[in-house]
Amino acid sequence: MARGINHYIGGREVAGTSGRTAPSFNPATGEETGRVALASAAEVRAVVEIAVKASESWSDTTPLRRARILNRFLRILEERIDELAAVITAEHGKVLSDAKGEIQRGIEVVEFATGIPQLLKGEITENVGTRVDSHSVRQPLGVVAGITPFNFPAMVPMWMFPVALACGNCFILKPSERDPSASLLLAKWLTEAGLPDGVFNVVQGDKEAVDALLHDPDIQAISFVGSTPIARYIYETAAKTGKRAQALGGAKNHMIVMPDADLDQAVDALMGAAYGSAGERCMAVSVAVPVGEKTADALIERLEPRVRALKIGPGTDPEAEMGPLVTKQHLEKVRGYIDAGEAEGAKLVVDGRGLTLQGFENGYFIGGTLFDNVTTDMKIYKEEIFGPVLAVARADSYATAARWINEHEFGNGTAIFTRDGDAAREFAHAIKVGMVGINVPIPVPMAFHSFGGWKASLFGDHHMHGPEGVRFYTRLKTITSRWPTGIRAGSEFVMPTLG
Ligand code: NAD
Repeated sequence: MARGINHYIGGREVAGTSGRTAPSFNPATGEETGRVALASAAEVRAVVEIAVKASESWSDTTPLRRARILNRFLRILEERIDELAAVITAEHGKVLSDAKGEIQRGIEVVEFATGIPQLLKGEITENVGTRVDSHSVRQPLGVVAGITPFNFPAMVPMWMFPVALACGNCFILKPSERDPSASLLLAKWLTEAGLPDGVFNVVQGDKEAVDALLHDPDIQAISFVGSTPIARYIYETAAKTGKRAQALGGAKNHMIVMPDADLDQAVDALMGAAYGSAGERCMAVSVAVPVGEKTADALIERLEPRVRALKIGPGTDPEAEMGPLVTKQHLEKVRGYIDAGEAEGAKLVVDGRGLTLQGFENGYFIGGTLFDNVTTDMKIYKEEIFGPVLAVARADSYATAARWINEHEFGNGTAIFTRDGDAAREFAHAIKVGMVGINVPIPVPMAFHSFGGWKASLFGDHHMHGPEGVRFYTRLKTITSRWPTGIRAGSEFVMPTLG
């Protein structure tokens, strides 16, 4: 029987009262395993009120004490990584080793956030005027919300809340309704680590809950990760309702393969980057751009057998390199893109549509797919597929390859494989993309740097975690002070100058 998946409010699990639920599935079997509560606007408002109340003392708790709680949370995460990974695999479908990888990347943000006493140190200038001093501090915003996608049910929330909490904010997480259970474990473990009730809450839901958060006057900031149309909507609505927002959207990441690249290394890199997590990663490489026909022919020749040999199976199979897609609808969408690529005239080198796995006939599996001769006017080039489909677009020169990347709607990540330092430097300098890899296919910044794309891959001006995260979740206050010996006699009616 499908189990009920609840909210987490005020330090405990709470059943929904809206009467609305959504099914969640095991993507490997197609079986409905849970029904997640979908919050009404009234339920969201009730959570916000609890968080506002909790914020009074949490914002006043010293940074060191906040960091100690996160330290305890860190230890719990490390000890129970297998438990969390199993929950992720059961609802998302990715292989267990990959689920552990995403938790590890989340753990690194918690590690970063435990340094908050150091990160929150402000600036001070003595004698900005005669006997006048100035200092600046960064203060918490209050209650902030995070709205997250299905593809990283633990890592993406952990891009946000460790930093937000460390900075002294209360946090409301609205996870993806497709894999909502990981968020409940995280919430439970935060409570176990000593986080006061109401400081971190999970409200399950869909558009109704998101809209309630966007319009709630007590929510000060919204962090969003998901598809571009929703990211744009979040950013525009947050601007209208006067909230700070960072909204990360979709991607179409290109990897240039230069004629001087080590092709075996490039192929290894492409296999993991295109097909890992069944391509359901915002940093997946979905377009390979070999420069020159010779490079392209050699690349296809090496890729084809590797794509055919991909080991596909349920995420719990330790041998599997790639699991199923997240839902039946998504499987159909990805199949539709392969149909479209064929119809538009791209060369279908490996077709994953026919795959069925014995014993998992109802799972949402698709095989690795490889297209050659993809051109920039094709739908499979322009749009994000978010599946295990790699498009090879042949470029006649580096300049053409770079121009395609710069002209693309998305600008999340990109990479170049080359031995030529000059080409690599030019690429890093001039390419219009937020995260760049030189012989690194998935250049995800470490937790103490910040993560974010350009163009339609990010709306807002702050990237996530690292120093940008601290800036996003705090506001600046500058204090100018003078004591009686520094005060000039009499009133001043001209524009004040301190010198
Ligand atoms: P999605 O946009 O469908 O959903 C994201 C969140 O928005 C979910 O919590 C969902 O409930 C909510 N939502 C969905 N429709 C909504 C609506 N009409 N109004 C308000 N809220 C709504 O994204 P997804 O399918 O869960 O995730 C995949 C997408 O996320 C891909 O496009 C991927 O590239 C992107 N992504 C981007 C990054 C990044 O860092 N840029 C990282 C991970 C995923």
